[in-house]
Amino acid sequence: MTINENFKSNFLECARSIYKEDFIPLHRPVFEGNEKKYLNECIDSNFVSSAGKKVTEFEDQIAAYTGSNYAIATVNGTSALHIALKMGGVLAGDEVITQALTFVATCNALNYIGASPIFIDVDLDTLGMSPKALGLFLEENVTLKEGIARNKFTGKKVSACVPMHTYGFPCKIDEIRDICNAWSIPLVEDAAESLGSFYNSKHTGTFGDIGILSFNGNKLITTGGGGMIITNDEEIAINAKHITTTSKIAHPYKFFHNEVGYNYRMPNLNAALGCAQMEQLESFLKIKRNVTKIWKNFFKDYSIDFINQIDGANANNWLNVIVLENIEDRDLFLEFTNNNKVMTRPAWELMSELPAFKDSQKDNLTNTYWLAERIINIPSSVP
Ligand SMILES: *Cc1c(COP(=O)(O)O)cnc(C)c1O
Repeated sequence: MTINENFKSNFLECARSIYKEDFIPLHRPVFEGNEKKYLNECIDSNFVSSAGKKVTEFEDQIAAYTGSNYAIATVNGTSALHIALKMGGVLAGDEVITQALTFVATCNALNYIGASPIFIDVDLDTLGMSPKALGLFLEENVTLKEGIARNKFTGKKVSACVPMHTYGFPCKIDEIRDICNAWSIPLVEDAAESLGSFYNSKHTGTFGDIGILSFNGNKLITTGGGGMIITNDEEIAINAKHITTTSKIAHPYKFFHNEVGYNYRMPNLNAALGCAQMEQLESFLKIKRNVTKIWKNFFKDYSIDFINQIDGANANNWLNVIVLENIEDRDLFLEFTNNNKVMTRPAWELMSELPAFKDSQKDNLTNTYWLAERIINIPSSVP
């Protein structure tokens, strides 16, 4: 047992040396820049809703930072992914490949379209989709005819692949992209957790056709609630903007909507927050790198597995992760820390175990099941 009294008290001490707070959350927002100033400007200008220049300003900042040609702001990350999948060509009755180790938003978004998920195992080092497992699954279960990937068993079209950069760690996205290309399967990256994470110097979310980001309150930067679609494809960008703004044809006074659209545009108030947060992004990333260093050193002394980014990756260190191989240890640790006002969390309940998705096709999910019982997130906010 690693979880002895000595370890327990030293863990609390380390947490309290980083965060001088009574209750230490997993990840809380920091508003120490121009947040109030920009919010006041919005209120004073009367532009608080979905029209206003902060939204385009925020979009431009995200596009520039991620190196995407286009960025379209939405009300949250789930809606961004919903529209990204739609723009990727996913239709009702299709199948979408993703991972079971993710937040429920990934699966909800594809379900809104009427598609169903296929769960592929993750890698132990990245916690993200395993290119090897993806390749194996496709070889065994999918045929490619006239540019259409089809599930041999269900006969359904496999119309997208959605890997997720878990807790901000870039997955092996270049290999996944190559496999998707070879199988003519559009790649839609769920980069909700990985703003500021790069792989081979390229921002996560920009490897495939479309990527999405989230600015929920617990993410690296926040707009209260918010999301972003990023893409290099002009047509996708134009259509995404159109459909997220009720599909209204621009006109000085007429209301004509050429198809069913969504009221998904990020309000100006939220974007104002986003602009102020973007100004602090580099400093957040720098401080978080330091926090990760402190944690990493701490766990080294106890030979507890601390998840590191893989070679070529430059992670945002959104949430730090340890692996307690002994499940009893894991549970003891969770209980002890939470009882002592230091928030720690296990992995999400796997998507493959939730009532809505439990009948979905999956591979053996060997690493996924192993990790789900052993990983723990520890406090990782900007102190
Ligand atoms: C946060 C998150 C989203 C988007 O969530 P919203 O709360 O709708 O912004 C999507 N996928 C993953 C993996 C996430 O962590």
